[in-house]
Amino acid sequence: MQGFSYEDMQQIDRAELGDQVPLELFRTIRLIGMYQGLPMGGRGTTLTIGRKIGESLPVRSLEELLALFRKLKIGIPSIVHRDDRIVRVAVEDCFCKGLPVLEEKLVCDLEGAIMEGALTRISGQRVTVKEIKCNVNGDDCCEYEIRFN
Ligand SMILES: [Zn+2]
Repeated sequence: MQGFSYEDMQQIDRAELGDQVPLELFRTIRLIGMYQGLPMGGRGTTLTIGRKIGESLPVRSLEELLALFRKLKIGIPSIVHRDDRIVRVAVEDCFCKGLPVLEEKLVCDLEGAIMEGALTRISGQRVTVKEIKCNVNGDDCCEYEIRFN
């Protein structure tokens, strides 16, 4: 299929408005469009979208992936636990920070699916990523559990 690559996304030629859009636009697409607009909070679709994005990212390691998360201002990630099969990544300053708290809602599943897609491609094994904390849920940060099966 003919289509776009991540490198294409970096070709930006806007004379007046440049390469930035406001965070509220990203949030609107993510939360009003995807989370509220799709059936079941967009669960299955979000996973498909996130994995596809993750596979397309030009990264070769977990460290490069986390550096890109920061560069893209998704949030500031850091590894808070690591053993043979599990890595936990906490994200400070996540795009969701400051939204009203909605208990039992973890809304940053797309970002976890992006990690899943990237890490599955990099490692060549099945990787699953689960969001285990979210600012919107009232937690102190957003956090993901990455499981290397
Ligand atoms: Zn979150």
